[in-house]
Amino acid sequence: MEDVKRQHSIRVLGAFGTKAKGFGTTSFMLNPTTTVDAGNLLDALEKESIEVENIWLTHSHLDHIVDIAYILDNYFSQRTKTLNIMGLPETIKAVKENFLNDTVWPDFSTIKLYGKDAMVVKYIEIEANKSYQISENETIRPFLTDHTVASCGYVYTIDNASVMITADTYSLDNVKNILETNPDIKSVIIECSFSNNMKTLALESKHLTSELLFAQLNSFKRDDFSLYINHIKPTYRQKIVEEIEAFRGKWKPIILKDEDFVYFR
Ligand SMILES: [Zn+2]
Ligand SMILES: [Zn+2]
Repeated sequence: MEDVKRQHSIRVLGAFGTKAKGFGTTSFMLNPTTTVDAGNLLDALEKESIEVENIWLTHSHLDHIVDIAYILDNYFSQRTKTLNIMGLPETIKAVKENFLNDTVWPDFSTIKLYGKDAMVVKYIEIEANKSYQISENETIRPFLTDHTVASCGYVYTIDNASVMITADTYSLDNVKNILETNPDIKSVIIECSFSNNMKTLALESKHLTSELLFAQLNSFKRDDFSLYINHIKPTYRQKIVEEIEAFRGKWKPIILKDEDFVYFR
């Protein structure tokens, strides 16, 4: 049983906080039909992106939604199933009104699948702190994070082990509460967008630096989880990585890149 559990993983399709040549933005593949965010679906999956049926959005920023536009456009005639887009009500509203709005890109929720009656896109509003069953043994539970727009992270559970994807955030207060009360969480993915000399920008844009990240982590009552770091801005990558090493203290963070895996242990 233990061996079976150890094989569970999340594929990181995009690990970075903005696009640059060779660097994809946030997206995690939970299973072949389900992702969290859509920053880098096309490059990572190419034709396999046809199989994606469920995208759980953390928030409405472009680096998390952009490839919804391109996977639908590229493989429009080959898609046979509706793409369900899940998000907080504010996130769904932003995508509908400002992105797939028939001005910036087609409103695919009013366009039928090629040769079928169902629509290409269906929007589903979700509630924080509610568990959603996504297969027989998988659940996903959104929780609110601290960003410049409405934003949520997700606790993704397979059987009895969970990975916490925290998404863009400044404060880790909610993350700390959930983590300290849920021992099933074995791994946590937290962002570190900026270098420490960009602390003011981090506060204004509600992101973390390594100094801010580890100062908060050091107040956590738990340290028995694997720590993964994502959403680094590629331009400052080397400096941020050096600073993570300088500030990590007792923590042994794994810095994610595209095509890495996150494990449930
Ligand atoms: Zn972002
Ligand atoms: Zn953001």
